[in-house]
Amino acid sequence: MRRGALALVAAANMALVAGAVTWAVRPSHPPAPAAAAATGWDALDPAARCASAAELVRQPDPWPTTCRWREAGEGLRGLSYPPPAGDPPWDRPRIEVYLSRAETRADVAHTIAHELGHMRHTRTATFGPQWLQARGLPDGTPPSIWTEDYAEVFATLFGPPVDGWQAPTQRPSPEALAALKDQFFTP
Ligand SMILES: [Zn+2]
Repeated sequence: MRRGALALVAAANMALVAGAVTWAVRPSHPPAPAAAAATGWDALDPAARCASAAELVRQPDPWPTTCRWREAGEGLRGLSYPPPAGDPPWDRPRIEVYLSRAETRADVAHTIAHELGHMRHTRTATFGPQWLQARGLPDGTPPSIWTEDYAEVFATLFGPPVDGWQAPTQRPSPEALAALKDQFFTP
């Protein structure tokens, strides 16, 4: 597993409460050259960047979604608070996106799609084993691993193409992705 690839806020959470799942940052892009005046994407604030990036996600986002700049030292690109609602901070299902100025529109769209994936999956006793089997992951793979895998598969299917694979698993082949889409993501 990549160092720092995964932090699971849900670990200490009660079993009945779907947890907030965190996603560590990939190695940052090189900084953009300084410009005399920011234009286009560079001029957008976090909320405007998220609104623009969401247009690249081929799934609706029905959840309250807030976006802010990532502060120095912060590694997370996003946090999700999936339903069902529970005790704070899980009392309001929602998505939070933390942006770096260097991330592209596609990068931000991928983060939104990844967090949408987390809002969708369940932790029921039957679902986890189904996902593990479909992905060829060992029995007993903990939710901290397979939920990241699920969210990343979701983001790969419904977000724009991006480099890298933001889960402690292997990226599925295109054929495997198509099969997963049919099995899990086709109504
Ligand atoms: Zn995640």
